Amino acid sequence: MSLRFCQGPECHMHKTKDRIKGTKGSKTYQTRRRSRFYYGNGNFCSTWCQDQWLTKHIEQALDHFGRTTEAKHLTQDNAWSKEYDWDSTYQNRSYMYRNGITNEQRPLTEEQYRDNNYTLNTGE
Ligand SMILES: [Zn+2]
Repeated sequence: MSLRFCQGPECHMHKTKDRIKGTKGSKTYQTRRRSRFYYGNGNFCSTWCQDQWLTKHIEQALDHFGRTTEAKHLTQDNAWSKEYDWDSTYQNRSYMYRNGITNEQRPLTEEQYRDNNYTLNTGE
């Protein structure tokens, strides 16, 4: 099990007991290191650290990945979303696409439901 560091740029600035590490006489507050984090896709120890990273890098990230420069429109071509429902005994799920504009429903297999690349949306 490998340990990873919290990616919060100021994680070590947050003075908590569990961040104090090192040998006696030279202890410092250090970036948290864990086998698993629960925030920001497993990269941050807390929403505080996630927010610090976002505040520091948001402009670069938006420039890199592209900014929204005009309104996007929800139409019947991009309004399909995946849903599931339980049967009356809560034993079996049924999967479906539902169109958020027309409310039309189309059945899905469980495999199609789990496939992130499978979509009925044509106009993003
Ligand atoms: Zn952190």
